[in-house]
Amino acid sequence: MTKRILLASLYHETHTFVDEITGLADFDINRGDAILARRGDGSTIDGFLEVAEREGWEVVPVSDYSALPSGTADQAVFEKFWNELDAGLRAALADGGLDGVWLGLHGAMVTTGSVDPEGELLRRIRAVPGAESLPIYGVFDLHATFTPLMAEHATGLVGYRENPHTDARESAVRSADLLARTLREGVIPRMHVRNAALIWPPTGTGTADSPMRDLEALARQIEAEHSDIWAVNIIAGYSFSDVPFAGVAFSLITAGSEDEATAALTDLEQLATSLRELGLPEEWDLDAALADAKGKPGPVVIVEPADNIGGGAPGDCTSVLRGFLRHGVTNAAVAIADAESVRALDDARPGDIVRLSIGGKGSRLDPGPVELDVTFISRSDGEFTLEDRNSHLAAMQGVHISMGPSAVVEAQGIKILLNSRKTPPFDLGQFRSQGIIPEDLSLIGVKAAVAHRRAYDKIARASYTVTTPGPCTSALKTLPYRRLRQPVFPVS
Ligand SMILES: [Zn+2]
Repeated sequence: MTKRILLASLYHETHTFVDEITGLADFDINRGDAILARRGDGSTIDGFLEVAEREGWEVVPVSDYSALPSGTADQAVFEKFWNELDAGLRAALADGGLDGVWLGLHGAMVTTGSVDPEGELLRRIRAVPGAESLPIYGVFDLHATFTPLMAEHATGLVGYRENPHTDARESAVRSADLLARTLREGVIPRMHVRNAALIWPPTGTGTADSPMRDLEALARQIEAEHSDIWAVNIIAGYSFSDVPFAGVAFSLITAGSEDEATAALTDLEQLATSLRELGLPEEWDLDAALADAKGKPGPVVIVEPADNIGGGAPGDCTSVLRGFLRHGVTNAAVAIADAESVRALDDARPGDIVRLSIGGKGSRLDPGPVELDVTFISRSDGEFTLEDRNSHLAAMQGVHISMGPSAVVEAQGIKILLNSRKTPPFDLGQFRSQGIIPEDLSLIGVKAAVAHRRAYDKIARASYTVTTPGPCTSALKTLPYRRLRQPVFPVS
């Protein structure tokens, strides 16, 4: 008998400390066969579809909603997604039945109506008649908020193990393999979660370094030593989320005893607590970093976590550009999301000097737009293909990326790439496709925390992570948390 699996995906990392509401228009949406057409695009859905093909499953594709990290999502988006999923689920159960559900999730979504939409989604699926005991598997991001409600209703959610997230698709494959195991062996495991009393900023969650490196190693050891435990997830958490279960967590999928699970989760929690201070790496003062970098062989990368686009920041903060101008650096480049400035260049010809008001519009924390005379160099539609198919951008958006209408301008030896859509700096094709060769630059401003490393570490001769004002600051104690459960200790 051919197994039938329902497929849906809901992907948003929600920054609750920025003012914007993320609405339906901000989401890329695929339905039905358009989801099956994602086969081959490098995404998590592609990973699931690979296993489905191999296992000979009939896939029932319903809805696939994803948006870049940004402000609180409108509850109406969640309800629309749920209505589609609910209808698809009921129709499939009534007509031929289902053997399982597979979900692509981020796991750190927050809506105007819910602090735990993924938990609520799983609860609602379980409440549909006929779905009470269906295997529900799926994949989620290492920066998720993993809640008790998720553990209660999911059969097996598998998290990414790498940050930068080079293994998103591979993690989807791993989760679908576990679904295949359930169908083959007839064993339905369950999940357990432990929420640690810790929150780390994104800069502290790279898996090449402690504490994440040690925690991942312990997770692999637990998996190796306990055959009943199918997978252990180290969840770094998402610090820019003011919800009760924000922060570091551990979850596992097990067919074994609760005591065994509890002991494993306790070991992980104790290790995390003992390493807690390592979750906050030191940052440079911007001026000190630029003074130190001066004269060093390039490219030198100036990393600005406070405007971390992959973490939900607007990508238009101006502190690093101001620093470049203040220090008189040349042969430098920075990308700034600013649709207004791109439009202001509509009539410009190469070589024209234009007065622009650049960036500084997306966050109250930024000093504001930089007024600058720039030389117009080029414009484009902003489309490019990833140079690195394992870039985390592929997991989200596939390998074809749109930055929206874009322009390159130059001021005082600094090239500024203006994008209409903010674009996380996870791939060198972003600059190269616009005629800026990253390897030839002396200084590059990068709006990220950790995820840029996959692209930039291989060309950087030096790298400075700097403190600037912005919504993704590493100084968590400056953020107005109100909803955290107690006790939770933001490390900063
Ligand atoms: Zn992430």
